[in-house]
Amino acid sequence: MIFPRQFKQSILATSMCAGLFASSMTTNSQAQSLDILQSSALKPDDLVVSMVRQLDLEKYKATIKSLTEFGDRRQGTERNRRALDWIEAQLKSYGCTNTERLQFDYTQAPSATSAQSAPSAQSVPSATTTATPAPRRNVIPSGGLGGGAGQGGSTLFGKRAKTGVNTDPLLQTNEKLRTLNAEQTPVGTSQRENVYCTKIGKKNPDEMYIVGAHFDGIGFGEAANDNGSGTALVMELARIFSSPEIDTDKSIRFVLWNNEETGLNGAYAYVAQRKDLQGIESPKGSGKYPEPKWLGMIQHDMMLWDHGMPVPQLDAHGKQVLDAEGKPVYVSPKEQRAEADVNIEFQSTSKQAEGAAKLAWFFRAANDKYATTYPAAVGFHMTNTDSVPFMDVVPAISLRENERGMQIGAGWNPNWHQPSDVFSTYSDKDFMLGLNAAQTTLSAVAILSGAKIAPVSKK
Ligand SMILES: [Zn+2]
Repeated sequence: MIFPRQFKQSILATSMCAGLFASSMTTNSQAQSLDILQSSALKPDDLVVSMVRQLDLEKYKATIKSLTEFGDRRQGTERNRRALDWIEAQLKSYGCTNTERLQFDYTQAPSATSAQSAPSAQSVPSATTTATPAPRRNVIPSGGLGGGAGQGGSTLFGKRAKTGVNTDPLLQTNEKLRTLNAEQTPVGTSQRENVYCTKIGKKNPDEMYIVGAHFDGIGFGEAANDNGSGTALVMELARIFSSPEIDTDKSIRFVLWNNEETGLNGAYAYVAQRKDLQGIESPKGSGKYPEPKWLGMIQHDMMLWDHGMPVPQLDAHGKQVLDAEGKPVYVSPKEQRAEADVNIEFQSTSKQAEGAAKLAWFFRAANDKYATTYPAAVGFHMTNTDSVPFMDVVPAISLRENERGMQIGAGWNPNWHQPSDVFSTYSDKDFMLGLNAAQTTLSAVAILSGAKIAPVSKK
């Protein structure tokens, strides 16, 4: 029982308004809904407020912590498969019982394994898995007067720090974790799986929003931030939306992708296998839609670290540290920056850019109204995550700790793909940033899907 009966009546009145405009909404009319969201007065007994209050920092942290018990969850390994089993069992325990797995084959090239066993190969960009090339887009013009070319169309302003993927297991100083991460992806072709479950809409079961995150990781740490933080966020939303006390007009699918780190392969496989099944009733006359029509895709990838632009590294005497070439070395600030925010991005070069931009602004408006601690910003260079395979088919956005192109890509996160991406690296301020992204997506999707209190007669 999550909603006290006494204020169910007033919640019903509020949520009916939300339902009304959500049901009149298509992906083309989200600008209108933005007006309604901004002009409506926030009431403490608003259903969306009640749902946002179901998000709890300790529960979010506990879910991330549990995911880290499977190490870095590298694709193709036993620890990855065990993590998938655990996630599926959790989804079922939350009441999201209709879990399914989407299977695909992935080919691991031999070179990756030899690179992994090479000594001290730290920070070798793109040294990991490159087999089964995905149709990536590297044609977006990037860079400007302010700096060099970043990914997704971005410009790398300001100071930068080193980035790369750790491929040396020995750089993990925790021996227990090193043992846990010892198994490598087998060379050759073998099966991989994504897992998902679906909240089926009462009024429009044939339409859905997709809420996703990748659960695989790399780097010989715990993949706590990349992407335990996004995986836990999606699981928390599945838990809250699965309450029998909540109905939605439209369906919501909660998806955990595999093989993001190898080239978004799990999401590409989903789009390839299911794009043409959208909105088809099967069996005919059953009222069942195995693949409801996609209304929007919302991805979550790296939710915790927003410490700002790298600063000069100083030695014990306060002197600027220089690299071998005599150039100053920059490092990430230890503390979260005062201006920390959630970054919502769409891709301006995608075929669905207009709808995606409106979706992004809708999320920002939802953040304004329902996030408790951190604001959100909108950017137009979404890249390098599982929303990319969707972006020409349906409005797609990503939520992150920073902009992927110009900030994460410039080395703003020193733990990215490193052995230091472990649970103990992050403070409650960091975890709270992830929770605020959860508040943002929860509230936006609750409104877009037409969430309401289920009829009292229903248990
Ligand atoms: Zn990631």
